[in-house]
Amino acid sequence: MVPGLNGEQLRIVLVKKIKKDTQLTRAGRKPFDNFGIVNPPIYRTSTVLFKNIKELSKAITNRFNQTYYGRYGTPTTFALEEGIKEIENGYRTIATSSGMSSISVSLLSCLSKDDRCLISDCTYYPTKKFATKILSKFGVETSFYDPSNLDTLKKKITKKTKVIFMESPASLTFEIEDMSEIIKIAKKKKIITIVDNSWATPFYFSPINIGIDISILAATKYISGHADTMLGLITVKNEKLFLKIKDTAVSLGDCPGPQECYLSLHGLRTLSTRLEHHRSSALKIARLLENNDKVFKVLHPALPKNDNYELWNKYFTGSTGLFSFILKEKSKNKVYKMIDKLKLFKLGFSWGGYESLILPVFPKKERKIAKWNEKGVLLRIHVGLEDIDDLIEDLFTAFKL
Ligand SMILES: *Cc1c(COP(=O)(O)O)cnc(C)c1O
Repeated sequence: MVPGLNGEQLRIVLVKKIKKDTQLTRAGRKPFDNFGIVNPPIYRTSTVLFKNIKELSKAITNRFNQTYYGRYGTPTTFALEEGIKEIENGYRTIATSSGMSSISVSLLSCLSKDDRCLISDCTYYPTKKFATKILSKFGVETSFYDPSNLDTLKKKITKKTKVIFMESPASLTFEIEDMSEIIKIAKKKKIITIVDNSWATPFYFSPINIGIDISILAATKYISGHADTMLGLITVKNEKLFLKIKDTAVSLGDCPGPQECYLSLHGLRTLSTRLEHHRSSALKIARLLENNDKVFKVLHPALPKNDNYELWNKYFTGSTGLFSFILKEKSKNKVYKMIDKLKLFKLGFSWGGYESLILPVFPKKERKIAKWNEKGVLLRIHVGLEDIDDLIEDLFTAFKL
């Protein structure tokens, strides 16, 4: 025992000491509460029974901390939430039915009529659409800032601004935000900061540790990691935010299925091994593309030549498998024909699984402030867990590189 520390303090000391790889194999597990079985079972329920009126009354006031009703979660949900909370170093985590629902539930919880919301213009398009199409119906006004120019953020802050929503790196174009600077500005004005950290995951960047209030993960992507699960995770810094967001999730009827929670926990255990493979293969391909005459530009923040490299290096301990590039070839049809020649890189949206993907993407029409003026076709790729030589051959043959 460490003298002077109680059990909880000791646990914190121990958790802080262990490295992230070890933490991923431990977080949220209680095998000896369940016959020594390594993984928690998939608990399915709608009804939870109470022994007597006293127990029922206790459950009503304690409903966010125990089994209470299916919609509030089962022990499978709690195991996942506890595990992610530990890895994120947050106060608590709330699991929801998708990455998008984690975003909408968080925004709805923190914004009321006449409030204003500021969102990075390079954010995942469905997030922007939720704000402009749905939040607007409830009297919340949204404006956008350029993540590469914080003056555009400062200029838009008013007394009514209640939330700043970041995504770093940005969807499709991989701009990195100077989050500590944004947090400083937000704290002075009591604005809640939210970041979508789906790309890096808490394995490579922990938003709560730098002072972000709410960290969101589309667990659909790397956490579950096998292209078979829809799930979102919201980790909050304090109890006030937890109560507000959990209450909104329950009121909206947003609850992930126990199978999805189980699969996300299952994925979490191998996250470090998978990410390391995604990271190194993606970097190898990015470097080859960067040095190829037929490639116009590579948008990968961990390449030292990338405009975002310094900021990336300030916040992230690793990069993952998703990045974009532009060929010099400007004809859309010619590029499309090359894409159709690919055998291993498949056409698909939801990245983070074991398989390599490619997608032509068009940021121009989504932007309001951070204009996108590149002429060539932007190709977003997700580098999967296949053999790197096979992937290089597939890509370089199809694109005649
Ligand atoms: C995919 C994605 C989401 C949405 O996740 P879903 O689980 O598909 O709803 C949110 N943010 C980012 C950055 C994503 O890539």
